[in-house]
Amino acid sequence: MVDYSRILQNLKFFNISTDKFTIFEWKPLKSYKSYILDLNVIKKNPVSNIFFHLFRGEMKIVHIRLKNLIYTVGSNNEVQFQLLEAFIEKVSEVFNGIYDIESYIKYDNFSISMFSSFKEEIDNIINDFNSLNLVMDLKVPCMVCNGILPVIVKRSFIENAESYPVPIVYNHKGHAILCFIDKNYDIRGVELVNVTG
Ligand SMILES: [Zn+2]
Repeated sequence: MVDYSRILQNLKFFNISTDKFTIFEWKPLKSYKSYILDLNVIKKNPVSNIFFHLFRGEMKIVHIRLKNLIYTVGSNNEVQFQLLEAFIEKVSEVFNGIYDIESYIKYDNFSISMFSSFKEEIDNIINDFNSLNLVMDLKVPCMVCNGILPVIVKRSFIENAESYPVPIVYNHKGHAILCFIDKNYDIRGVELVNVTG
């Protein structure tokens, strides 16, 4: 089994913001880097409930707006986007389970120091990630690389699908494959696809 906790050691930051300011930020020990410029760009995106992926030099960033909060995670390029999305989903679930954040915001009745102990929860989620069973690692053949590639998918993505098999694009090493996954996590087909953007 893939050691997701080890992969998640590549996280650079986790940020939770309102439209106006950061209410919580986690960084690895001894990291003093600021990601405020990236976060300012992200806050300008008004779309809710959709994960967005950005490349910033050596870094990948995933963000999503859910109700009144924006959740953002940054990692190095080793971490697959589906794992980062699953991580955000878990962190937002735990955060909203501990804090009634939507009513704090509604009544403007909180201090960000309330959330500082949440750093321990982030460390716990990283350390326990394998036992949380939120992702699957699939083996997908690529006709360009001529090998079998590990592709991580969120269970929520497969289990909440409206029909099967579900398509997912894996963009790697300058080309992309389209994989079809059924509800048993079996690969039902792989195609080479053209990409633009
Ligand atoms: Zn390939």
